[in-house]
Amino acid sequence: MPSDNEPDPYNGRLDNAAIERKREIVAAVRDAVGDDVDLAFDCHWDYSVESGKRLARSLEPYDIMWLEDIVPPEETSAQRELARSTSTPLATGENRFRVHELSELLYEHAVDIVTPDPTTCGGLAESKRSADRAEENYIPMSPHNVCSPVGTIACVHLCAAIPNADVLEYHALEVDWWDDLLVRGGPLIADGHIEVPTEPGLGIELDEDVVEEHTLGDDVGFSS
Ligand SMILES: [Mg+2]
Repeated sequence: MPSDNEPDPYNGRLDNAAIERKREIVAAVRDAVGDDVDLAFDCHWDYSVESGKRLARSLEPYDIMWLEDIVPPEETSAQRELARSTSTPLATGENRFRVHELSELLYEHAVDIVTPDPTTCGGLAESKRSADRAEENYIPMSPHNVCSPVGTIACVHLCAAIPNADVLEYHALEVDWWDDLLVRGGPLIADGHIEVPTEPGLGIELDEDVVEEHTLGDDVGFSS
């Protein structure tokens, strides 16, 4: 992320230059990948409603898949106001918990693609319940996923069990031993797809040696 397009840290407002800089970035990516590639951009809850509206409208010509988490996650009316103001699809949900907080978004149609995190929203069963509420409202679900291969496979099983799954997020590109955590014949993600395991349980086997190699032991600080 370039540092020349950030909002005012206190009120979340983006000035015109910041919005223009973001629009230029999206335009450049769209230009580089062509029209057939789905693009999504994450705002990480940083913006005010009015800046979110201006930003989302400025991105309408680029037909992005979604703009994510524009405003902080608590207030459904703010999210709904954004959704009414733009044709850019909006995604949110990873910081909403249990079916009740997610349902509010869905029945208000304050979101175009809902993105709960199965590891924090209440687990697989609760995610399935939320998927059912989304499906009732004709809204796709794309689970938020920042997990290891274990959690990722749990999300894969969820996606296979719901009728309205869309894409599954993952964050593994920068971890070169991510794939090694599982005993497998090849990479977990091949050509953008993950096969649903058919073995019992999650259908995976941890490589205990690789896990041991990357265990922090007693030095349990937060590291990335
Ligand atoms: Mg996100």
